[in-house]
Amino acid sequence: MLRLVPLTDGHNDLPWLLRSRFKSDLSLVDLTKSLANSQTDIPRLREGGVGAQFWSVWVPTSLPGSEALQTTIEQIDLVHRLCDAYPKDLELALTSDDIVRIHRSGKVASLIGMEGGHSINNSLAALRMLYRLGARYMTLTHSKNTDWADSATDTPKLNGMNGFGESVVKEMNRLGMLVDLSHVSADTMRHVLRIAKAPVIFSHSGSRAVCDNPRNVPDDVLSLLKANGGVVMVVFLPSYVSARIHDHERMRDVEVARLRSAGKSDPEIGASMAAWDSDHPAPKATLKEVADHIDHIRDVAGIDHVGIGSDFDGGGGLVGLEDVSKYPALIVELLRRGYSEEDVAKVMGLNLVRVLRDAERIAAQAK
Ligand SMILES: [Zn+2]
Repeated sequence: MLRLVPLTDGHNDLPWLLRSRFKSDLSLVDLTKSLANSQTDIPRLREGGVGAQFWSVWVPTSLPGSEALQTTIEQIDLVHRLCDAYPKDLELALTSDDIVRIHRSGKVASLIGMEGGHSINNSLAALRMLYRLGARYMTLTHSKNTDWADSATDTPKLNGMNGFGESVVKEMNRLGMLVDLSHVSADTMRHVLRIAKAPVIFSHSGSRAVCDNPRNVPDDVLSLLKANGGVVMVVFLPSYVSARIHDHERMRDVEVARLRSAGKSDPEIGASMAAWDSDHPAPKATLKEVADHIDHIRDVAGIDHVGIGSDFDGGGGLVGLEDVSKYPALIVELLRRGYSEEDVAKVMGLNLVRVLRDAERIAAQAK
């Protein structure tokens, strides 16, 4: 199946790993061999049958605006250099046709996804130039609000977006850059879906009904997504996937807050929490729970609106889906649940290719 269908993953943080561990110096690393303490290298991409990967060029929200912009450009440069360094295995992809062609040629189509609207430093000119450098989606926020859009994990300021946020979405639609609604607040999701001309993506999210994490997508938004034509690419991040883990982490946070309000010092809190952790071992998320998210999104939005977005090397990975070599295990699970091969092919990549193609068509019409 994966020889015929380009398995397209929405989110992998290898570029930041290469920056933080190797100072972005590709002469210090050989990705054709197994890369220790990572979830991604070329042999495992091959084993997993990966056809296309959105490489995340995430930068921290703590960076001041102009530094965020510069660092994003440096991360984009790193993806370009990766493609140049491994020409037999990776090729930069800028269009839906590129994904299909590069996959057919036996290489991994390499797309660039910007994670966080802070990367454009409040500049539509920067957004346009980042598109020209190859960025094909932008997540409107990361974990903090931008000046123009609310994040799921910050205090709401705008209850969606302001006028500049609307301009950003319109400009992205005009360019053919996918609007990514992972990380944004539910009100920002609804706001974008009211005004978007092109299908949106969630590059790495789950269903809120399956796991009540604010980063996940509520059912009313899944219904709106059906009309929009977009796709939720299901994440493998344990605390977004498993309600058991999410509950455990909330319990743990409550305990830390209790110790802090009791006036304990950081070392005391550390010691108490070590004991707490051994009394309360963390549950482990599993591949089957990922499939539960896919089931639910299919049931509410439809089979045309589900994909995969692992977040490998950014916190993703769980029992049965430990690294990029393991995608075939998810295919087996979906077939076992009665999905047709045609439906599995949609989830693995055809839905995302369709969404990108639609966004390109709408941009061409706008021009
Ligand atoms: Zn993320």
